[in-house]
Amino acid sequence: MAVVDQTHDPELRSWVASAHGHSEFPIQNLPFGVFEHAGRQRGGVAIGDQILDIGAAAELGCFPPSVADVARLAALPRLNDFMAMGEEASTALRKSLSGLLAAGSPNAAKLQAALLAQSEVVMQLPCDVGDFTDFLTSLPHTDRLGRLKGLQEPVPPAFKTLPVAYHGRSSTIRVSGTPVTRPTGQWRRAGGELVCAPVESLDYELELGALIGRGNQLAAPVPLAQAQQHIFGYCLVNDWSAKGIQWWEQILGPFLGKSFMTSVSPWVVTSQALAPFRMPARARGGDDPALFPYLRSADDAAAGSMSVQLSATLRTPSMREQGLPGHTISRSDLQCMYWTFAQMLAHHSSNGCCLRPGDLLASGTLSGETPESMACLSERTAGGAKPIDVGNAQSRGWLLDGDEIVMQGHAHRPGYVSIGFGQCSGVVKPAVQSESVVIPD
Ligand code: MN
Repeated sequence: MAVVDQTHDPELRSWVASAHGHSEFPIQNLPFGVFEHAGRQRGGVAIGDQILDIGAAAELGCFPPSVADVARLAALPRLNDFMAMGEEASTALRKSLSGLLAAGSPNAAKLQAALLAQSEVVMQLPCDVGDFTDFLTSLPHTDRLGRLKGLQEPVPPAFKTLPVAYHGRSSTIRVSGTPVTRPTGQWRRAGGELVCAPVESLDYELELGALIGRGNQLAAPVPLAQAQQHIFGYCLVNDWSAKGIQWWEQILGPFLGKSFMTSVSPWVVTSQALAPFRMPARARGGDDPALFPYLRSADDAAAGSMSVQLSATLRTPSMREQGLPGHTISRSDLQCMYWTFAQMLAHHSSNGCCLRPGDLLASGTLSGETPESMACLSERTAGGAKPIDVGNAQSRGWLLDGDEIVMQGHAHRPGYVSIGFGQCSGVVKPAVQSESVVIPD
């Protein structure tokens, strides 16, 4: 289990000047990612508005022999092999990087040559995601959408006995900044007519994702007490959704309504970096069913959640043209999660399913109780029926072509330096297949 150590010391400062003030990437964060520069992809760590090129630092002989092998893996163009090394290895590399980047480091002058401005690189996916599972952990989200669909039982009983999920599509996971093309598919117009057309009900879903570090063998479930150690770190996730397609097709589960694209932020904030921000899991209600033993642990109840705040901002084409900032349409946090990431992982593996390094487990739409905390348009606009004001004299029921969604996340706790997740953004592009077809008589 990740613990608070000297790398979280609020007094710790870096010789990289931009790491101070309100940087999302102070020396207490040190998220890992993959960047491309001069035609070559490799691993790095964010510090202020800079990136430390881990491979370049290794060539300069900056790492002690004890972490040299781990640093070599963290410098590769995909982080899977590094992530697979497990918690001890990533903790050791973090401690070494913290020392190298700290003010007063004897290596500071030498390491200037291994720094690159983040503005000069193109961020990539941090790892190959073999499998992507998206959960459904927010009770308010489940309840509202169940009512919207007119279900007799908006929250199915299983929701409170196990973390519900669907198997997502990993081939369409893209890094922040990649445009999302409006999908064409089957859906019903408000009058009930079935069409095959570009979907109008395009939505975002504000989520946090856990990336698996060390995996587990087939038929060897991960006990809840060890689940947290299998999570390398976290990134922002936008589970773009074509609600009309999803609502028409969904009998066995989500399919084309979800599989057209999923966006993730490029920087992976490690479990170690988040250690100071651990919080008790959401308390279960008095009427809630008791938990099966494999989902029950006093440690997880005491520290299974994190103090992480998230937001989604909409920037319309006219806002961009006029140089205006976007309008924040969702502000939420992890307190709405009925299940912890450790419970999600323990349940996922409980039937013997193996998880592999780089697999993505997302939280599901992180909607809270208040209107501002609704983390998708389906809820904010009651399925498109009540458009919301998004500023600049504009309103939205669903996303229009040219709209951009920018997600951000921060971890806060009094007495500690706040850390950020960077951004997860995407602009909506028009459908490729734009004609609307009805079934001929
Ligand atoms: Mn989702």
